[in-house]
Formats: sequence, structure tokens, C-alpha cells
Amino acid sequence: MEPFNPSNFLVLVVDDLNINLQIVGAILDGEGYATTFATSGQQAIERMNAALPDLILLDLMMPEMDGFEVCENLRARPECCEIPIIFVTASQEKKHVLQAFDRGAVDYITKPFNPPELLARVKLHLELKHTRDELKKAVAELERLATTDALTGIANRRSLLTMGENEFLRARRYDRELSVLILDVDRFKQINDNYGHALGDEALTAIARAIVSSMRKGDSVGRFGGEEFVAFLPETNLDDGMKVANRIRTTIAELSLFFRTKPVKMTVSVGVTEYSKEDLKIDDLIQRADKALYHAKHRGRNLVVGMSLQDLKSASITL
Ligand code: GH3
Ligand code: MG
Ligand code: MG
Repeated sequence: MEPFNPSNFLVLVVDDLNINLQIVGAILDGEGYATTFATSGQQAIERMNAALPDLILLDLMMPEMDGFEVCENLRARPECCEIPIIFVTASQEKKHVLQAFDRGAVDYITKPFNPPELLARVKLHLELKHTRDELKKAVAELERLATTDALTGIANRRSLLTMGENEFLRARRYDRELSVLILDVDRFKQINDNYGHALGDEALTAIARAIVSSMRKGDSVGRFGGEEFVAFLPETNLDDGMKVANRIRTTIAELSLFFRTKPVKMTVSVGVTEYSKEDLKIDDLIQRADKALYHAKHRGRNLVVGMSLQDLKSASITL
């Protein structure tokens, strides 16, 4: 982590007496902090619409709106509920100290204060907040890594299956349509063998992008395995799912990658199915879409094959 640098932090000082603002302001300026001031609770709240401070030094006793009210108001706003608030007040009453913490303050300093103590507390709470923010960022990044396929940047198998389970439960609970697409690159091994693994990787990335760009908001897609992708299309029946699949298929057939100056073409085969009331889990749909995919491969590739549960039962599609 970077060393602590006061000039990176903006401190808002709130006090109805100008002299107090000047004293605290001079102490903070002397240390290198960026400062901003408000002379009433209302002004402090309005200040939040401009730049958000990293910490607030808040006077308790102020006419009209006192420090407790300001604190409560700020805690209720999502954009500023995590800004540390330190009360600075002449009151020594235990009751006030407890009330301050109750309303969400992180600390309490009584006037007359000792400037090094004020600075030590400001620094401590800024460091704590900074560490908390960094931790949050690290957790978000870890979550992203755990759910993303490193090569293509789309959902990985694990998060794809979670999305699929959610879509399945939703379709079942509300009796809605849902179609599932499974897409496999045709003769992909040959692309790797003829042009190298790096171009194969590039092809997978371009294919993932083409799939994503052919889908609607609300659809989910992810990398199911090596050169296989799965998509879940809520509110979509088999016919419409096949239309989407064909749009993806033609988009990919029109892509060109280049090996040196030679254009390299790719095609995909897609199996499509739709939710039926007899399905018990998302895997039932994925397996049926995979059977349809198998037919598409068998019939010559660069093809979309749809298969409902009824089709499968009546064996209207046979090998
Ligand atoms: P088919 O039309 O029957 O699907 O033929 P195919 O060659 O695509 O099928 P096969 O399953 O034999 O080959 C899949 C290939 O995908 C083999 C494997 O090396 C390649 N592959 C899997 N993951 C990756 C990857 O991340 N990068 C690259 N470059 N290749 C991969
Ligand atoms: Mg495959
Ligand atoms: Mg393949």
C-alpha cells in the first residue's frame, strides 16, 4: 500500500463559529490535508453534493441543526454513509459521548483539544477508511476473477452454471419460457494444428465477443469448456432461441482472423432447447441442447439444430 500522504485526503470541518474553523483549518493545513468548511449543518449536507470529503470533523452544538442530526442525515445516504465522522465539542457529558457513537460517529474529541491528538485521530480514521476501501476493492477483484474466464473475459463455467440455475428456477416458479444454447467451434483442433495455439486463443476471444454482441440484455453467456459456450435466453422459446443461434452462427462465419496475411475462417454448430415443465434442473436442458449439438455436428456442422423435450421423446430427430 502507498505511504500515508495527507494531501490525498479532503477533510470537511463543520462549526458555527468561524474562529473554530480557522483554528482547526490551520492545524490541518499545517499537516498538508486538503480542507473544506461549513458553518452550519445544512451547509455540511449541501457540501456532499460537491466533492465528497474523506473525513468530517463535526461540531456538536450548532443552532438549527445540531451535530447529531447532521450525523444521522449523512449516515442515511448511501453515497456518504461510510465517511468517518469525528465529533469536536465543548461538551464533556458522558451522555453526549454515547449518543455520538450511537448516531454513527467513529470518534469524539473535546474542546479545548490538543492539536497533535486531533491530528493523530484524523490520521488513524483516514488510514482505517483507506484500508477498508482497499479491502473492498480487493474482494471485488477476487470475485471478478473467480467468476470470469481469464481468456475471453466472459463468465466462466462456475458462474455460468449459477446463472443457469437461477434462470431455471425463475422459469419454473413463474412458468416462463427459457431456451438454452450450446455452441461448439467446428474443427477447432485444426485451427490450433494449422495456425498455432495463439491464433486458437484469439479465435475463442473473437467468438466470445461475437456471441455477446448478438445477445440481448438479460441473456447470460459463458465459456462452458475448451471451445464450447453456453447461453441462457430467458423469455425465449425454441423458435426464437434458434433465430438467435442462427444470428450468432452467421456472425461468426463472417469473422476473419489472419494468419500472417492469410484470412482464417471459422464456423460453429449450435444445439438449442427450451424449458419444459418436466425438466427438473438446468442440467436437463444443457444435456438436451448437447444432444441437439451432436446432431448439428453429425449433419455436417455450421448448423443450428433445435430439440424440444417432445422432439426427444418422439425421436423425431434420429441419427
Ligand atoms: P468438432 O467440429 O467435432 O467440434 O471438432 P473439434 O476439432 O473442434 O473438436 P475437438 O473436441 O476434437 O477439439 C477441441 C479442441 O479445442 C482441442 C483443444 O486443444 C482445443 N482447445 C480447448 N481449449 C482451448 C484453448 O483455451 N485455447 C486453444 N487455442 N485451444 C483450445
Ligand atoms: Mg468441443
Ligand atoms: Mg469443436
